[in-house]
Amino acid sequence: MRVVLVSGGVISGIGKGIIASSSGLLLKTAGLRVTAIKIDPYLNVDAGTLGPLEHGECFVLADGGESDLDLGNYERYLDIQLTRDNNITTGKVYQAVIEKERRGDYLGRTVQVVPHIVQQINDTIERVAKIPVDDSGATPDVCIIELGGTIGDLESGPFVEALVQLRHKLVRDPESSFFNIHVSFVPLIHGEEKTKPTQHAIRQLRSAGLVPDLVACRCDSSLDDSTIKKIAFSCQVDLDQVIGVHDMETIYQVPVLLEEQGLLKLLRKGLQLDNIPLDASRK
Ligand code: ADP
Repeated sequence: MRVVLVSGGVISGIGKGIIASSSGLLLKTAGLRVTAIKIDPYLNVDAGTLGPLEHGECFVLADGGESDLDLGNYERYLDIQLTRDNNITTGKVYQAVIEKERRGDYLGRTVQVVPHIVQQINDTIERVAKIPVDDSGATPDVCIIELGGTIGDLESGPFVEALVQLRHKLVRDPESSFFNIHVSFVPLIHGEEKTKPTQHAIRQLRSAGLVPDLVACRCDSSLDDSTIKKIAFSCQVDLDQVIGVHDMETIYQVPVLLEEQGLLKLLRKGLQLDNIPLDASRK
């Protein structure tokens, strides 16, 4: 199982969904089958009962699932068809665990966030990542997982713990890999690009147990080289692991912006994609 986790720091609404979709599209151009999961750490079971003024209209999937708008982006960018299971919410996870508890699946045991909720999250991710999403009916090669909100939010704690455990498992398996894109924000204040919020966001990511393979910095206009150097140096990553994702005229230009900065090359290496045999139809 190959996973690209797109997490975020500093503020929400920073462009994680567009970066997740764009990364998936780049992987698709390399001949891979890509699926996507959106994690929403709210207690609503699905997006159907959320207020549209706050969250935007929900996106209705072919199976009738009412989901987050990001699933629409994944479907459009990747030309795939997702199911309601591709949107994992806290509400769905707790509902499943409580149903199991009532059925007696955990008889005699105390049901807790760790391990039961965390295990339920990982069982769901591993199951959903294998669901075919295109006409080929084949199991996807890579699953993009977007974690809503920001690292450090109280409500996303169990998901972060689950992803830390998933990473631990995947990086040890020669057939698997895990690549973490952490999206941060670089504000421009009095003409100066400020890196401190990103430094703190990466420190928080590491202290949660995750490791950034790429720091994607959202900003108004393209980043100065000196800012990229400073972020790489202070976050202990290589220069090519820091990219700027500035405001574009349309979001459909973002995949090109990422590719120009070498994202596909990094993904190839980080996900060990050259180990995946591509049949002639996919080359
Ligand atoms: P998040 O997933 O972090 O909540 P989204 O991906 O939904 O953020 O993006 C938030 C908003 O910003 C959306 O309206 C999206 O279209 C816009 N956006 C994201 N990235 C860019 C970009 N590089 N240039 C212009 N607009 C962007």
